[in-house]
Amino acid sequence: MQQVDVIVLGAGIVGVSTAVHLRQRGLQVALIDRRHPGEETSHGNAGLIARNGFCPARFSNRAADLADIAIKQSTAVHYDLGAVFRMIPWFRRFAQHSGAQGIQRYARTMAPLRALAVKEHRALSAVSNGERFYRKSGWLQVYRSEASFRADERERHYARIFGVDYRELSGGDVNTVEPGLKADTLLGVFWPESESVTNPSGVVEALWRYFIQEGGLYFSGEASALEQRRSGWRISTPRKELTAKQAVVALGPWSADLASGLGDRFPLA
Ligand SMILES: Cc1cc2nc3c(=O)[nH]c(=O)nc-3n(C[C@H](O)[C@H](O)[C@H](O)COP(=O)(O)OP(=O)(O)OC[C@H]3O[C@@H](n4cnc5c(N)ncnc54)[C@H](O)[C@@H]3O)c2cc1C
Repeated sequence: MQQVDVIVLGAGIVGVSTAVHLRQRGLQVALIDRRHPGEETSHGNAGLIARNGFCPARFSNRAADLADIAIKQSTAVHYDLGAVFRMIPWFRRFAQHSGAQGIQRYARTMAPLRALAVKEHRALSAVSNGERFYRKSGWLQVYRSEASFRADERERHYARIFGVDYRELSGGDVNTVEPGLKADTLLGVFWPESESVTNPSGVVEALWRYFIQEGGLYFSGEASALEQRRSGWRISTPRKELTAKQAVVALGPWSADLASGLGDRFPLA
């Protein structure tokens, strides 16, 4: 049995970053995951650290696009029918919040987080020797049609409001930024303040190693073993039983499963 200050459940980018921050504040932290750190969502992603991103992902309502999605011919969406039925209440809420007011609320909520993202990645990569994974080359967003370029105008509208730099590019300009593209008919937007990483799980691994080096504890274990006690939290792992006053749930897409078992429901799909 070991007592720590905080148990952090989940060793993706969120859990490992949280654990590093808590450790830097002098707390004794135990990080727990059933897999090796950074092997789930924090592995299979596009590695973009977007300085913009003020509008929720656009979901086409064109009949032809919806038909492609329905027969699984779209590269934009992959779905499992059973999951779609379970997600109906979530879709309903998503639709309710996708009006102009909902998007404005989302943009205002995201703006301070977006403003921190690149800075925060820089600080964490500097201490964890993860700088080799970062590309400071901005983000080129390319559009195949004038219509899709126009459909993203709201994103640029909020970028202007929140002071995020961007450049609109015609086909020839796109070709200059990215000579590998046949770009005569394309339109583009270049976001110079965004960055990207070449290896998302490498970033998590570097941070995790730094956390261990700084005295953090890591255990392989199952988060569902977490129990609430009068004095805090307790969890059994194959190696050790741990207790702590505080627990952080950073289980990515699985967070809602654990939280709902503890009576805390939030809309995550
Ligand atoms: C296709 C795709 C592209 C993306 N592109 C980008 C992008 O370009 N830029 C960007 O910023 N974001 C992107 N994202 C989002 C980004 O990947 C996620 O927001 C981020 O990785 C979430 O990190 P996390 O730590 O919350 O979750 P995860 O990385 O999933 O970590 C959760 C951890 O919890 C552990 N776990 C779960 N359940 C249990 C349990 N019961 N017991 C023990 N451990 C458990 C898992 O093993 C995992 O290690 C993308 C996502 C996808 C799917």
